[in-house]
Amino acid sequence: MPPALDHEKFMRLAYEQALKGYNEGGCPIGGVIVDNATGKVLGQGHNALVQEGNPVIHGEMAAMRAAGRLKNRHDTTMYTTLQPCFMCTGTIVQFGFPRVVIGDVVNASSDETVRFMKARGVEVIVLDPASSPAAKDCIALCAKFRREKPELWLEDWGGGPNPTLRGRHPRESGDPIE
Ligand SMILES: [Zn+2]
Repeated sequence: MPPALDHEKFMRLAYEQALKGYNEGGCPIGGVIVDNATGKVLGQGHNALVQEGNPVIHGEMAAMRAAGRLKNRHDTTMYTTLQPCFMCTGTIVQFGFPRVVIGDVVNASSDETVRFMKARGVEVIVLDPASSPAAKDCIALCAKFRREKPELWLEDWGGGPNPTLRGRHPRESGDPIE
C-alpha cells in the first residue's frame, strides 16, 4: 500500500493556485491532480474566465489541461478549492477519477454535485475547516471574492438560474438527482 496522500499539503497547493488567480483579478478557484501511488503532482491550475476569456476553464479543468494526456486517471486524486460545478463534476465522472478532495462546500449553493459523484462511486472527501487551515483559507478567499465581485462570481456559474428552466430543476421538482 502506498502511503496515504497528505490532503492538507495538496489542498494548500490548490489554494495557492486560487490565490494566484485572485491576484490576477480572476475567480479564485484552484485545482490539483495527484498520482495516488507516488504523490506526484500531475497537473495544477486555476480558473481562467477573466485571464483567458474562457468560461470553461474552471480550476479543475485547468488542472486537467495542465496534466494533459494520460492513459487514464484511475489512480489519481482531484483536489479542488471549491465544490465542483456540474461541468467539472461531469468531467470527474467521465474521466474516472476515483477520489475528489474539496476545500470549500460552504460557498456552494447545494450538495447536488457531491451526491452525483458519490452515486457514481467517487470517494468525496470534504476537509473540515476546523482542522484544515488550507480549507479554512479556501472558504475565506471565496467568500471575500463573492463580496468583492458578486457579478463575476455569478458569471462564472453561468449567470444564475435560467428562469425558463424553473420547475424542471431537480431541487424544485423533488426528483432525485441520481
Ligand atoms: Zn467547474
